[in-house]
Amino acid sequence: MDAARPLTPAGFESGPPAEGGGRANAADDAGRITPVMEQYIEIKAANPDCLLFYRMGDFYELFFDDAEVAARALGIVLTKRGKHLGRDIPMCGVPVHRADEYLHRLIAMGHRVAVCEQLEDPAAARKRGGKSVVRRDVIRLVTPGTLTEDTLLDARRNNYLAAIARARSTSEESRFALAWIDISTGEFRIAECERAALAAAIARLEPGEIIVSDALYGDAELAPYLRSLPAVTPLARDVFDGATAERRLATYFGLATTQSFGALTRLELTAAAACVSYVERTQLGQRPPLSPPLRESEGATLAIDQATRGNLELVRTLAGERRGSLLAAIDRCVSAAGSRLIAQRLSAPLTDPEAIARRLDAVELFVTNAGLRAAMREQLKAAPDLARALARLTVDRGGPRDLAAIRDGIIAAAGLAAELAPAAGLAAELTQAAAMLRRPDAAIAAELAAALAEELPHLKRDGGFVRAGYDAALDEARALRDESRRVIAALQARYAETSTVRALKIRHNNVLGYFVEVTAQHGDKLMAPPLNATFIHRQTLAGQVRFTTTELGELEARIASAADRALGIELETFERLAATVTAAAPAIKQAAEALAVLDVAAALAELAGERRYVRPQIDDSRDFVIEGGRHPVVEQVLEGGPFVANDCDLSPLPQTADGRICLLTGPNMAGKSTYLRQNALIAILAQMGSFVPARHAKIGAVDRLFSRVGAADDIARGRSTFMVEMVETAAILNQAGPRALVILDEIGRGTATFDGLSIAWATVEHLHEVNRCRALFATHFHELTGLAAALPRLFNATVRVKEWQGEVVFLHEVAPGAADRSYGIQVAKLAGLPAAVIERAKLVLARLEAEDRASPRGFEDLPLFAAAPRPTPPRDAMLEAVISALAALHPDDMSPREALEALYALKAKARDR
Ligand code: ADP
Ligand code: MG
Repeated sequence: MDAARPLTPAGFESGPPAEGGGRANAADDAGRITPVMEQYIEIKAANPDCLLFYRMGDFYELFFDDAEVAARALGIVLTKRGKHLGRDIPMCGVPVHRADEYLHRLIAMGHRVAVCEQLEDPAAARKRGGKSVVRRDVIRLVTPGTLTEDTLLDARRNNYLAAIARARSTSEESRFALAWIDISTGEFRIAECERAALAAAIARLEPGEIIVSDALYGDAELAPYLRSLPAVTPLARDVFDGATAERRLATYFGLATTQSFGALTRLELTAAAACVSYVERTQLGQRPPLSPPLRESEGATLAIDQATRGNLELVRTLAGERRGSLLAAIDRCVSAAGSRLIAQRLSAPLTDPEAIARRLDAVELFVTNAGLRAAMREQLKAAPDLARALARLTVDRGGPRDLAAIRDGIIAAAGLAAELAPAAGLAAELTQAAAMLRRPDAAIAAELAAALAEELPHLKRDGGFVRAGYDAALDEARALRDESRRVIAALQARYAETSTVRALKIRHNNVLGYFVEVTAQHGDKLMAPPLNATFIHRQTLAGQVRFTTTELGELEARIASAADRALGIELETFERLAATVTAAAPAIKQAAEALAVLDVAAALAELAGERRYVRPQIDDSRDFVIEGGRHPVVEQVLEGGPFVANDCDLSPLPQTADGRICLLTGPNMAGKSTYLRQNALIAILAQMGSFVPARHAKIGAVDRLFSRVGAADDIARGRSTFMVEMVETAAILNQAGPRALVILDEIGRGTATFDGLSIAWATVEHLHEVNRCRALFATHFHELTGLAAALPRLFNATVRVKEWQGEVVFLHEVAPGAADRSYGIQVAKLAGLPAAVIERAKLVLARLEAEDRASPRGFEDLPLFAAAPRPTPPRDAMLEAVISALAALHPDDMSPREALEALYALKAKARDR
């Protein structure tokens, strides 16, 4: 921790000098609770669920349990300060100038922090009397879902606070409403959904924090799910009170009713009101500007559950990194706001072909107009993060640089609008963006430009951010302040001369103010006549002696008041400018949104140009035709050879309604998984409004996407249990409808061969007969290829390999038909298994295959899944007998002879059949 930490920070002083200088004691020697302690306990009691950052001088201190939690979490030293009720008080602290960093770590671990500040100068408290305590109060609750600081946020990601509300009435038991807010950008949305869709909706948002009512948190059915999520905050019922919801929501927006938000259900109002109430609570009554809540109708976005998102590595890889994800592969945005929007769109692709086409129109315009695109991107690069600067200014956490960001953002927006408008005619999304870019009043930017200096400090309290010449009174105060400094320098020269002490210096510190300082050897001279008439002794240190003079005292007062006045004027100017900006918040927010929209459209066009993507055709059919499709991530990272493009056609056969299922076989490492995923990713890209890596693509909009990998292949997730695989497969079979797209990769591999085969078999049948969806099914069970004969909408495909001088060569080429064998042994050889093992394996394989041909299993004759639910097979009497005999054996208690006899007995039973 900070080495500069004083050994005796301002503590629980037990008497004068009170704040600022005393020893840190919570209680005096008689064991009485000190006033500071009393104040601490009161504030802590009001914020029981937060770690309390209690400001004392240059530190935020934590005490008692908070100190123990924070010291452990942050790896900082836990000390003791004074006693409370006879026991040591644990304490730790973080220096104020590094508080953000520590806050960040605590928040990331799911803690909530109440920041308690000193609300007055300690000097003011001292004036009230020796025992007075500096006034303090919590100015803010820092929770994972309500952050605004750049240092606490990832610029390229949204950070959502989400509220989940559940319908009370028993008939609607499973109805939920979800409201989500990003207070750092003002985005606010609401949606209703069924219980079954809740997890997918949450998975899409990945909220930084989720609030629920106490009742919901304790609900037996939901509790396990809610507890599996990070940062869920249960709140008292009043926050989720439906009766007051509308009023609370309207009040937040300063409206009489919420009618202008469109028809919201009571459930939606409840969730939305919970969000705003919580924001007010954490911001201590401040109301960061939010966009009016936008209602997302059910089914407007492509539902993708958590497992599928993870599996397809949409926004991060299975290892949890952005690098290597689809998002990283396609994000060519030049602004943080653009990156946030593209991530949002990728997480929630659309289902309405028209809405998708509107986005594609914008991308296409920039694809065909590369010159315009380049010009736009150049300007967007320079545009600041308007939305986040605005949010900070409105919650009083902004600095001079945020004002500059607003200035530059408005100017950039106007410039872009001028350039865009003439060309945008073809794309409605861009025409609308151009209009939104013009919303903010140019006068605001002009005012800010006039007021702000060139070089800006980070904090407003540092001053110096108002341009010289902007405010006459400020200029005067600054002149006086700077003049006085020159006078000090002159005074020092004069004193040095009159005293003949050439090393005499005039210095300044916070305790003494300005003082004259000479080295110890000259001290006596100044304290003796005649100089002692001028120099008044203040302090003798080891090496120096310090003095003041009447003249210096007067000068000091003048300097201080001029500096104070200058800073005061600057702060007033800041407040006035911030108020102007806040008043224009809705217009500025629209411009910010438009900047992001532009950036995304131009970035997707850039990507399309760079990687030869084409515009997909999306409609309401059940078609799925990809020609020359590529994997958007693999093709970018592939070294050693080009990516082999592959077609995929799952469209319904002529005169039928439902899409088809492709059963893909082929050796290990042939490219099956890659092929499956690339088709799912192309669907996602198309529906988010992006061009796609293919020669041609036509997709009937998918409403739900599922992707699963068999447990044996799912090593990266570290939960390779067959159970998980089955649970997830069950979810698909229960949920997928005819518009869904299902990707199943090696399902059934996690268990014994025959088990696995039968499960895979039944799953394919179910998809075909019941779900009737489009699907891609990769399997190493060759037996399944026979199913195509019985299931009309199922067809076989294989990834081709070439055998050359006994080695396999992977062609990565998907072709109709079934793989003739699995080539596992060749792969083993490639992997370097000893030659003897390979040779032996070849022999065994030949034997097994010969036996297999001699007694074909005849799977093709099994009844279809839907046609006849299979009766439970009669249990085999012999098997039962052998098993129970086995169970009765106690090998540890047997003699070798008994064991041998038992073995004979078992053998006899087996022969009995
Ligand atoms: P499988 O699932 O059949 O075992 P994968 O899909 O995991 O095979 O592919 C194995 C490797 O082959 C991948 O890591 C990739 O590098 C390469 N590969 C896959 N498909 C292609 C392709 N179409 N073109 C080029 N290389 C490919
Ligand atoms: Mg695979």
